[in-house]
Amino acid sequence: MIAVQPTSKPLLGASLPELTDWVQQQGQPAYRGKQLYQWIYQKGAKSLGEITVFPKQWRSQLEDVSIGRSTIHYRAVASDGTVKYLLKLADGQIIETVGIPTRDRLTVCVSSQVGCPMACDFCATGKGGFIRNLETHEIVDQVLTVQEDFDRRVSHIVFMGMGEPLLNAENAIAAIICLNRDVGIGQRMITLSTVGIPGRIRKLAERQLQITLAVSLHASNQSLREQLIPSAKAYSLEALLSECRDYVKATGRRVSFEYVLLSGVNDLPTHAIELANHLRGFQNHVNLIPYNPINEVDYQRPSPQQIQTFVDELEQRKIAVSVRYSRGLDADAACGQLRASKLES
Ligand code: SAH
Repeated sequence: MIAVQPTSKPLLGASLPELTDWVQQQGQPAYRGKQLYQWIYQKGAKSLGEITVFPKQWRSQLEDVSIGRSTIHYRAVASDGTVKYLLKLADGQIIETVGIPTRDRLTVCVSSQVGCPMACDFCATGKGGFIRNLETHEIVDQVLTVQEDFDRRVSHIVFMGMGEPLLNAENAIAAIICLNRDVGIGQRMITLSTVGIPGRIRKLAERQLQITLAVSLHASNQSLREQLIPSAKAYSLEALLSECRDYVKATGRRVSFEYVLLSGVNDLPTHAIELANHLRGFQNHVNLIPYNPINEVDYQRPSPQQIQTFVDELEQRKIAVSVRYSRGLDADAACGQLRASKLES
């Protein structure tokens, strides 16, 4: 029998054939692969020791092999039922995950990095800096954790937690494939949100996934965007929109644009008109997100009337638009409120 390497990769994220190969390398019959797969993805096993269908003697040899599950470090329930989790990873790092229930949906907002290097001016996560990319299993784990805690199937996933997924694209894509193939979540129910990294949207299109791409736009012209998003200095609005148009052409999927409304900054009718001009002529949708307050900056959320005027200007120009009021505000679980510095509280 081959000795198990203590440093072997966590098993979560592996497919049925990969797990079958792995058990066979351990000198076990192939059907143990199917058992392992079911215990990891359906029964939520946290360690191999729990897998009681495995022979005791083999289990004792597997103590150093990790499935790759996190532990819940802290859990806060908001008044609207949204649950914010702080999950502790194997190296002690902590990330945030949010479970957002409605009557017929359970959405998980997953993190793709510990912290975030993008430093968008209005976002709490960026204020805490960047620590590291998440591994594939650390992304998949977040979904299983919420599913188990709610005791209800997750229907939707949004990559809108901490981090910039296209700076960790390989692991984010591997997690999407696993969540689709092994956890059974339709690709169309998965949204990847990005602030845009030059060349990466085009590259993502090549993968021909059926996921929804959301692009955090937040501004109607280049200089305003640079003011809000430091990385925009190296990525023109035209270049970003050109990649988005190509994404629609390559995948047949429309792009969704996120736009945080900051009173007096990017929410004037002139901004709406400018935005509509940029978005004309390809399949897209605008999601307006009224600003959620964070401590470090003094932006204001626009009034309902200001928001409605912005919506009207876009609709008059035939732009599909919706306003997304964030859930979980009173648990600091809303968009832009996930941060590293508060995590030990
Ligand atoms: N880095 C990716 C994924 C994180 S998504 C991206 O930026 O798209 C985080 C979402 O929350 C983005 O749409 C972001 O614009 C929004 N957001 C950030 N700070 C916010 C705030 N203070 N109020 C409301 N939405 C915010």
